[in-house]
Amino acid sequence: MENIACTGISDDIIANQSDRKTQDMAKIFFIDVTNRDGVQTARLSLSKLQKTMINMYLNDFGVFQSEFGFPTTNHENNYLRANLELASMGVLRPIRLSGWIRATSEDVEKTFEMVPEIEYLNLSISTSEQMIQGKFKGRKSRVDVLEQMVEAVKLANRLGAKAVGVNAEDASRTEVDFLVDFAREAKAAGGDRFRYCDTLGYDDPFTIYETISKIANATSMPVEIHCHGDLGMAVANSIAGAKAAVDAGQDAYINTTLNGIGERAGNADLLSCVLALLKSRGFANKYKMGRPVKLNRAYKLAKYASLAFGVPIPLNQPGVGENAFAHSSGIHADGVLKDPENYELYNFEELGRGEPELVETGRLICSGEYTGISGFSHIMGKMEVSFANASEARKILELVRYANVEAQTPLTEDELHFIAKYPEITRRLLTLTPPS
Ligand SMILES: [Zn+2]
Repeated sequence: MENIACTGISDDIIANQSDRKTQDMAKIFFIDVTNRDGVQTARLSLSKLQKTMINMYLNDFGVFQSEFGFPTTNHENNYLRANLELASMGVLRPIRLSGWIRATSEDVEKTFEMVPEIEYLNLSISTSEQMIQGKFKGRKSRVDVLEQMVEAVKLANRLGAKAVGVNAEDASRTEVDFLVDFAREAKAAGGDRFRYCDTLGYDDPFTIYETISKIANATSMPVEIHCHGDLGMAVANSIAGAKAAVDAGQDAYINTTLNGIGERAGNADLLSCVLALLKSRGFANKYKMGRPVKLNRAYKLAKYASLAFGVPIPLNQPGVGENAFAHSSGIHADGVLKDPENYELYNFEELGRGEPELVETGRLICSGEYTGISGFSHIMGKMEVSFANASEARKILELVRYANVEAQTPLTEDELHFIAKYPEITRRLLTLTPPS
């Protein structure tokens, strides 16, 4: 049976929110930023094919939006446009693909020149005194920050953006009154959401709840919550921030990454946030998700991110770590064998775990940048992929070789299927031509 988990709304929440009808209850959405914040992580990167696969998996999982890259960066151009093409083909739907840029008119202009098909954007500017003094070094005042942001938001709307998120970088070290002004101005300029960035992971669940409550109540604007794990609280802060927005009657958009990978100590882990909303004491069956999540894709998604980034999943990672359902001590093992609910909060099968994994221990034929037609035919034959004729097979093989040059690791079955199914898209993903 397909495992689709979607929270309902409990009676007591409805009773507590008598000023709103059930259908009006604010929802919690996920915006995954693996392909933006994740790839900004020091020492980590993804190929354009891997970024595309992640967009495909996120769409399938039920994520509302993927912040899929940088529209003003030259080497992203073919990848971004190819993914927007997949969206227009209905392949990457209903997920929204959004670009991240600085909140400047120059960046907005360049974005629509370089990626004219783009529909969704987040515009970012620093708001804290620390950044205004320490980064802008007296070149910008608060008034300048507001003016620059407003100009950029208006221009993005004029040039055809369907939705614009406005990011306050270092929001947690910014006075709340200024954040309210910033969000109000953003809204008046046509911004759709305010992104509260706890850029340095400075908040705790109590402070973020209080701050986002104030902003959401004062501005009546949907809030994005973007948290980092420098103090180990990214997931807890994201959940607390989302609760504050929803309690104030505003939709919340939690920013996440796969396996929590992100700059420094990382971002809020997507699966941990989903589990917190679905399974925790205070959230289960009380808050409503914007898109139903297919929880049974979780294990595969985490494994792919681990492979693509080349970063092992920690042993104790929630849900997907090797020890997440492992028991050895006498009392726990006995208890879980009598009834799993004695010592497990949720079932491993819900997360798509439990299937035996085939690991080749004998002869292995895998793809590489020098793969020949015989080995390639063997690999594709095992996957039951056939080609119309020999020239078609050679064409796909050529793309597979190029994909291997980028990936520097044998391709996965899903990647090979993707290449065989979308050869023209793949060609664009693999075309990297530096400007002369
Ligand atoms: Zn970040």
